[in-house]
Amino acid sequence: MNELKDKVALVTGGGRGIGAAIARRLAEQGADVALTYEQAAGRASAVAGEIEDMGRRSLAVHADSGDAAAVTAAVDQVAEVFGRLDIVVNNAGAFMVGPVADLGAAELDRTLAVNVRAPYLASRAAVRHMGGGGRIISIGSNMAERVPFGGMTLYALSKTALVGMTKGLARELGARGITVNLVHPGPTDTDANPADRPGAEAIRGLTALGRYATPSEIAAVVAFLAGEDGRYVTGAVVNADGGFTV
Ligand code: NDP
Repeated sequence: MNELKDKVALVTGGGRGIGAAIARRLAEQGADVALTYEQAAGRASAVAGEIEDMGRRSLAVHADSGDAAAVTAAVDQVAEVFGRLDIVVNNAGAFMVGPVADLGAAELDRTLAVNVRAPYLASRAAVRHMGGGGRIISIGSNMAERVPFGGMTLYALSKTALVGMTKGLARELGARGITVNLVHPGPTDTDANPADRPGAEAIRGLTALGRYATPSEIAAVVAFLAGEDGRYVTGAVVNADGGFTV
């Protein structure tokens, strides 16, 4: 039912972790999928290769989400190469944690550039290429709703901004048949938050399910929103957090 045949998707930060799982899942459902990376060119190419092995088109684009021009250029490049753009997933994220005393203007600016400015500019660029049925999906965080320990101020404030962006864009783009949604993962086993890290047991205890998510469990939620079955969902914040915020 939720097929993405003939659709073109772009996933920012699609070479590892949640973004890679999203890229693979959208391709499994039939989409051609481009992805951006900042540093790990080899891993991004490997994911693109997996997608091509599924019989889809793919493209790995170097684009630092902290670079405004690079973000916009990546979106335009994907639309040009594939001839259309239907789905943008704003996944790449900066995770600068520590006490406020240690995090100043530089860290604030970098966090906002990657976590807020890039999703806004990518979405803005994408809507120039999208028709009806377009999808903008951002990956926020459970920390936008619950911050159970210190050191998370920059991360939480940046992810909270995506709530307003999502609602504003949903209202503005609804008349064009474009939906805009935000997924809030809980603790998910990736390089950024390994399930075997020191302190992981305490994090597990903050969820109702008592465990980390796998990246593919987050990807499944994104795939639902991206597909036809998700067509009446817009402006929503979807928690996929194992009950972290209940
Ligand atoms: P990972 O660290 O595993 O992967 C991050 C991905 O984002 C990589 O592909 C990386 O590219 C890319 N990336 C990071 N910074 C940039 C940048 N400046 N420009 C372009 N790409 C960039 O992270 P996760 O998969 O865990 O996180 C993905 C998203 O999910 C983030 O937005 C994060 O905030 C959110 N999230 C994660 C949670 C978790 O517990 N894991 C919980 C809640 C939200 P490269 O490989 O080139 O470095």
